[in-house]
Amino acid sequence: MSTYTVINPATATAVKDVALADLATTDATIAKANKAFETWRLVNPGDRAKLLRNFARVVDEHLEELAQLEVLNSGHTIGNARWEAGNVRDCLNYYSAAPERLFGRQIPVPNGIDITFKEPLGVIGIIVPWNFPMPIAGWGFAPALAAGNTVVLKPAELTPLTAIRLGELALVAGIPEGVFNVIPGKGSIVGERFVTNPIVRKIVFTGSTTVGKGIMRGCADQVKRLTLELGGKSANVIFADADIERAAAGAPGSVFDNAGQDCCARSRILVQRSVLDSFMEKFEVAVKKFRVESPELETAEMGPLISAGQLERVREYVPAGTEIAFTGSMPTGPGFWMAPTVLLAKSTSDRAYREEIFGPVVSVIAFEDEADAIRLANDSEYGLSGSIWTRDLAKGVRVSRGIEAGNLSVNSNSSVRYWTPFGGYKQSGLGRELGPDALDAFTETKNVFFDTNN
Ligand code: NAP
Ligand code: MG
Repeated sequence: MSTYTVINPATATAVKDVALADLATTDATIAKANKAFETWRLVNPGDRAKLLRNFARVVDEHLEELAQLEVLNSGHTIGNARWEAGNVRDCLNYYSAAPERLFGRQIPVPNGIDITFKEPLGVIGIIVPWNFPMPIAGWGFAPALAAGNTVVLKPAELTPLTAIRLGELALVAGIPEGVFNVIPGKGSIVGERFVTNPIVRKIVFTGSTTVGKGIMRGCADQVKRLTLELGGKSANVIFADADIERAAAGAPGSVFDNAGQDCCARSRILVQRSVLDSFMEKFEVAVKKFRVESPELETAEMGPLISAGQLERVREYVPAGTEIAFTGSMPTGPGFWMAPTVLLAKSTSDRAYREEIFGPVVSVIAFEDEADAIRLANDSEYGLSGSIWTRDLAKGVRVSRGIEAGNLSVNSNSSVRYWTPFGGYKQSGLGRELGPDALDAFTETKNVFFDTNN
C-alpha cells in the first residue's frame, strides 16, 4: 500500500504518513457501506436522529483536538479551525432533526390514495477538497446519513487527518460500523472509483471546475446523481453611497481569509469610480493591518497556503514586473507563505482578474453606474458568491437580483450558514447544499397509488 506524507504548511515539515487506499480496498469499503445500508435505512427515525445528535456531541467534545489537527495539517488559523469543527457539529445537529421529518405528501386522486415517500439512495460517495476539509465533508455526510444513506468519503490527499478522526468519532458516537467510511487515497484512484463503481448511487463533489466536469461526464454513464460545488471569482461591489469605511475594513477578510483558498473569496473588487481613491486608501490600511502569522496564534487572521505547489501556482499570477498596488505582510522563514497582494486590473481580460487564483491575490476595478456594476459582476463563467455595499436599500435589492450567483450578501461578506442553501450558478456548480432543501439531494421521491375501489 502506498502512503502520503502529510506536511505542515506553516513549517514545511512532515507530520505523519497516511496509507492510501488502492482499488481493491476502495471496492471492499463500498461493498461494506452497501451492506450497512440494508440496516441503516431501517433504523427507526427517532433512533437515527439520536445517533446523529450523539455524533454532534462527540464532535463537540473533541472540538479543540479537531481544530488543532486542522491547524497542523492545513495551516488554518486556530480561530477558523474551531469554527470549522463547530460547523460539523452544527450540521449534524441541524440534520439530526430530519429523520422524523422526511415527510412525503398525500395528493388527491380519483379512485384511491396517492402518497409520496422520500427514500434514501444507497451509498453516497463524497469527494472533498483540501481547502475546507471539515465543513465540506460535513455538508455532505450529515444530510446524507440523516436521510438514511450510507457514506464513503474521500478526503483530499493533502488533508486527510480531520476526516480520518471524524470517521473514528462516528464509531465512538455509536454510528454503526460501515455506515460512515473514510477512505484516504488519490483522486485518480479512490475518487474515480466512486464514479465508476455502480454501487455508489450519488457523488457529492467539491473541487476544481476541471475535475468536476470530468466527474460529470463519468456520472453520465450510469445516470449517477451528482452535486457539484466548483470554483468562483466572486465580486465585492462597492457603491459610492456605501459605508466605505466598513466595506474597506471587511474587504481583506472577504478575500484573504484561508489565504484566499476559498471558493467564495471576493477576489474581484468592483468600486464605483467616484470613491475609488478613498476606498483604496482605507483598503490599504486594512490590508497592512491584516495579521498573517503562525496559524496557531490566537491573533492570526491568515496562515500559509496549503502546499509548495499551490504557492507556486498562485505566484504565477503575479510574475516579476507585475504592477502591484500594495501588499500586506507575511512571516519570514519556512512554510508556504505569501503576502496578501492587491492589483489594479488594467482590463477585464487580465488573467488575474478573470481566473480563479485560489490564493491571496485580489484585483480591483472601477465601474461607472449600477448597470455597469451588474454587467461586470456577471462577466465571469462562475457565479458562486458576492457582496454588495450600498446604503440604498432598493439598489441593494435590485443588484442582488441582477447578479447571477448563488450566495450574495448586502452590506456583509458572510455567505455560509448551515441552515441556508449554498451553491453556484453557471460553472460554479450544480445543486445546493445545506439548508432545508439539501435533503432532496439525498433522497428519491417515490409515488405510490393505492386503488380503493375494492
Ligand atoms: P481538485 O483537484 O478538483 O480536487 C478535489 C478533490 O477531488 C480531491 O479530493 C481530489 O483528490 C479529487 N480528485 C482529483 N481528481 C479526481 C478524479 N479524476 N476523480 C475523482 N476525484 C478526483 O481541487 P483541489 O485542488 O482539491 O481544490 C481547489 C479547487 O476546488 C479550487 O479550484 C476551488 O475553486 C475548488 N473549490 C470549490 C468549492 C465550492 O464549494 N464551490 C469549495 C472548495 C474548493 P486528490 O486530493 O487526491 O487530488
Ligand atoms: Mg487537484
